[in-house]
Amino acid sequence: MTIWFTEKQTENFGITMKVNKTLHTEQTEFQKLDMIETEEWGNMLLLDDMVMTSVKDEFVYHEMVAHVPLFTHPNPENVLVVGGGDGGVIREVLKHPSVKKATLVDIDGKVIEYSKKFLPEIAGWLEDERVDVQVGDGFMHIAESDNQYDVIMVDSTEPVGPAVNLFTKGFYAGISKALKEDGIFVAQSDNPWFKADLIRNVQRDVKEIFPITRLYVANIPTYPSGLWAFTIGSKKYDPLAVEEDRFHEIETKYYTKELHKAAFVLPKFVGDLVK
Ligand code: SAM
Repeated sequence: MTIWFTEKQTENFGITMKVNKTLHTEQTEFQKLDMIETEEWGNMLLLDDMVMTSVKDEFVYHEMVAHVPLFTHPNPENVLVVGGGDGGVIREVLKHPSVKKATLVDIDGKVIEYSKKFLPEIAGWLEDERVDVQVGDGFMHIAESDNQYDVIMVDSTEPVGPAVNLFTKGFYAGISKALKEDGIFVAQSDNPWFKADLIRNVQRDVKEIFPITRLYVANIPTYPSGLWAFTIGSKKYDPLAVEEDRFHEIETKYYTKELHKAAFVLPKFVGDLVK
């Protein structure tokens, strides 16, 4: 009997995929965690029945969250990832030789545990000597951090449940405090088709805190609508003003130095959200 998984992206629309096997499922302290093997996308992590990452298309998101801020900053050494328990952003961060320490703070240790077990292609770098993995609330970690990070990436779930505080103006103010005086942060900001208000509100809040605030997009087929947005807030360096010689060689499958800039060229209906 063929099993299908459907993620309802709105009350009226979703995506469905063929499931070969359920590898693990449990209700953790924070969320419903499923690891499934899908025919089309390979192994996939679901949280509260939402697609988090899949072996086949994960590189788009993880490269775009990491390399846009890390190439924008001239010398990123101390990096923080809030969320990101699947390890994909950390894998990309470690491709930058300037990074001396990458701290990951995910509220749910089970995500880390089962990503290591079933998503080694994505989570396989969490044991690297430059990586400090902490299980805790990213909101609290930011509140307790002061002037210490060059780049902060917020790779959280949707603004529901444990992540609800990670989309507030108070959190962005805390990020500014946790960053050094020339720091940069990026937050995954959902999609312009179904979450236009979220994108508009995040841009408004971040603009009130960071002198340089921009939005960029990427194509992620397994995420709601397939068009995914990222908010970048920077105290000093503009992602659209990166010197050509800053782009050192790294192994990627989606990100390029040309796409670094092109990602900020927005479709009209998306650009209108950030005016
Ligand atoms: N790329 C995915 C996306 O854009 O939706 C996110 C993937 S990552 C697995 C999301 C992580 O955020 C989860 O592991 C979840 O446990 C974590 N998370 C949610 N709320 C958090 C919080 N307050 N502090 C730290 N991590 C949190």
